Amino acid sequence: MQKTIFLTFSVFLFLTFIQPSAAQTNSAINQGNFLKNGVVAHRGAWKKDGLPQNSIASLKKAISLEVAGSEFDVQLTADGVLVLNHDPVYEGLHIEKTKYSGLKKYPLKNGEVLPTLDNYLKIGMKQQKTRLILELKPSQISKERSLLLAQKAVAKVNKIRAQPWITYISFDYDILKEIVRLDPSAKTMYLNGNVSPEQLKADGISGADYHFNVFKKDEQWIGNARKAGIETNVWTVNDPLLMDYFLARDIDYITTDEPEILLKKVAEKEQNPNWKLVWFDEFNTTGLPDSTKWNYDTRGNTYGWGNNEAQWYNVANLKNTQLTDGTLKIIARQEPTSGKKYSSGRLTTKSKGDWKYGKFEVRAKLPSGKGTWPAIWMLSSDNTYGGWPKSGEIDIMEHVGYDPDSVHSTVHTQKYNHTKGTQVGKAIAVKTAISQFHVYTTEWDENEIRSYVDGILYFSFQKEDSGFDAWPFDQPFHLILNLAIGGGWGGKHGIDDSKFPHTLEVDYVRVYQK
Ligand code: MG
Repeated sequence: MQKTIFLTFSVFLFLTFIQPSAAQTNSAINQGNFLKNGVVAHRGAWKKDGLPQNSIASLKKAISLEVAGSEFDVQLTADGVLVLNHDPVYEGLHIEKTKYSGLKKYPLKNGEVLPTLDNYLKIGMKQQKTRLILELKPSQISKERSLLLAQKAVAKVNKIRAQPWITYISFDYDILKEIVRLDPSAKTMYLNGNVSPEQLKADGISGADYHFNVFKKDEQWIGNARKAGIETNVWTVNDPLLMDYFLARDIDYITTDEPEILLKKVAEKEQNPNWKLVWFDEFNTTGLPDSTKWNYDTRGNTYGWGNNEAQWYNVANLKNTQLTDGTLKIIARQEPTSGKKYSSGRLTTKSKGDWKYGKFEVRAKLPSGKGTWPAIWMLSSDNTYGGWPKSGEIDIMEHVGYDPDSVHSTVHTQKYNHTKGTQVGKAIAVKTAISQFHVYTTEWDENEIRSYVDGILYFSFQKEDSGFDAWPFDQPFHLILNLAIGGGWGGKHGIDDSKFPHTLEVDYVRVYQK
């Protein structure tokens, strides 16, 4: 019975799609049906299956993947046919100077005829999940032909009632303005990266579809666009780390040649929809760390930080704390400094970044060598319950050079701490901790602290209802990044002086809260 109903319904849908009737107006198409995962397949989904870019096959693949949008490039032949191709030249023929009949003699490498906009849109309109992102390639010949391309594209889209599916994009601002003139309700996004959100808004353009460097260079851009009511799309993001970067910033769309990878990341993010990026440092400048975010901590230099540590932490010294090539480097050197044998760096966010609860994510590569003791950790900002260990400590990641394949996450409280041997923590094997970057994360909420490496949970600590001596973790904490040398733990098997300097390299710090 259920099957019959389903089949009947399917046939109904099928007929509806292939035979748009007078009753099926644009207003009948529910915009809410279009997927909201923000993934845009660049020139269709072609890469994984080796399909031609801008082919019907790559469109169908994108639709089957259920991406939010499938992008494609449109150009105008000599005889005024709208065809799909990225480059201005197809099989050695200049598209703008060749008739369609001349071009279509040469099939795509999968045997398809060079698609026209008409047949491409008709395939795309058989579904209502994936938007069609139509890029208009500016003419190489004249502005008139660019505008003619815009006029013909709008006429075609309107004639077959494809408007609900279409977002027009172009590097040519005049093309977009022409589209807005012809169809003020058209969705349009500009590609060239040089117009502000406010100006786009003033010109009736609905979005900015910019290269990732534009958005990375100005961290305010995406937020400003949101305030101005301008949608954002970033191209072309194939690096998984760059995907994380833009997903963390809640950009509206990401255009990629790797839709399968991005879809997986979006699904992971959707499992935890409430984490919002509240603080970060991507370390993308050069020189010393950003003084609006970081302090130098030297309090314990004279007394070895209670651990008999062998380094002196310098203040604002490029030799020990420097930003280069997109990462923070905390460097420990063997050089006599203020009576210690080694210099190094210790940064904190105290009073510049203090959080009660959150997700703390640090991508880092650790030093190697006996005697090193890098740490990514947190202390109470106000010491509400008294000095250490009463107000608590959360170690997101610790590592000692004599045991290079293990990283540790630990909590310390009055009841559980290492001076009593009662600290609570766990280690996980990370064979490439010293050779590769990994993401070290701790999530901390009202009831639990959880630590992860590359998304794999390996340690958790639950609240006991016995007061602050077991759970002082209901007050603001700040972050600390440091590279110690020697000390009770790091120096347990001595310090190898043959391998200095040592570097703790940090790609980013991101803090999320609900
Ligand atoms: Mg394109």
